[in-house]
Amino acid sequence: MLKIEDPYAPIEVLNLSKFKEHGLSVFIKREDLSHPFISGNKWRKLKYHLLAAQQKNKTSLLTFGGAYSNHVLATAAAGAKYGFKTTAIIRGEKLANPILNLCEMFGMDLLFISRTEYRNKEAFALCVQTENQYIIPEGGGGELGEEGAAEIVEEWEYDHLFCAVGTGSTLRGLLKGMMQKQNKGLVNGIVVLKGAEGMQDDFSTYPTERFRLHFNYHGGGYAKTSPELLEFIRSFASETGILLDQVYEAKMMIALIDLIDKGYFKKGQKILALHNGGLSGLLSQL
Ligand SMILES: *Cc1c(COP(=O)(O)O)cnc(C)c1O
Repeated sequence: MLKIEDPYAPIEVLNLSKFKEHGLSVFIKREDLSHPFISGNKWRKLKYHLLAAQQKNKTSLLTFGGAYSNHVLATAAAGAKYGFKTTAIIRGEKLANPILNLCEMFGMDLLFISRTEYRNKEAFALCVQTENQYIIPEGGGGELGEEGAAEIVEEWEYDHLFCAVGTGSTLRGLLKGMMQKQNKGLVNGIVVLKGAEGMQDDFSTYPTERFRLHFNYHGGGYAKTSPELLEFIRSFASETGILLDQVYEAKMMIALIDLIDKGYFKKGQKILALHNGGLSGLLSQL
């Protein structure tokens, strides 16, 4: 039986002067520390997929993503660590970048397909799939991914949780975990995609008073950066010693700070922000 250890992901205090001024206690859960490349929620979401692959006697993993996908890199590193061969179907023309080079270093095979073909990536995967391959959905989601993400939650007493949202599977896992552990507290999802308001429907099975999606912090759209965003990352890193990636976590932290200014929180409240890793994404900015 495959043994997947619990990741190292301590909770630390964040001491920004703004938090103190507003009488707030802010903490950060360092899921980013779990592994340099299988980091954060990607580790959590892979866990039960890897166990399922082993249970089905599959020796190889097949997954998909963009050319800077944290999930693809996590799958490459996790596959190597836990003894699976790995293949990824990459969206777009063949290219090399630091992320894909790292994937290959972990022994991953890369298959590039056009953006048009990528729209039917599941069908494409079924065509190329070999008998010993287990398919992991994009981003590592699905029910098994959410089950893993639910394990981020412990018995906590926070008034607010903050989490960046891409596909939303981590947030669904968190909500599941919060309810299983009977924790109170509002789960806030910062959506990093533009025009994704329809995503609200993906959460219709959860009580609306348990969570809130925030759609105003995408910063121009998925993976869009600006000089202000990069400056925020610099100043946050120099004040706290914690790096945030520009696609997800910096936008989440900007939202948290902006919501303080907007009077969203009550004095004395305790807030937990999840740092879901993704720091290899910064490689695209260097
Ligand atoms: C993938 C990722 C997310 C988004 O997770 P979803 O489950 O797709 O919503 C957030 N933060 C980081 C760093 C990620 O790599």
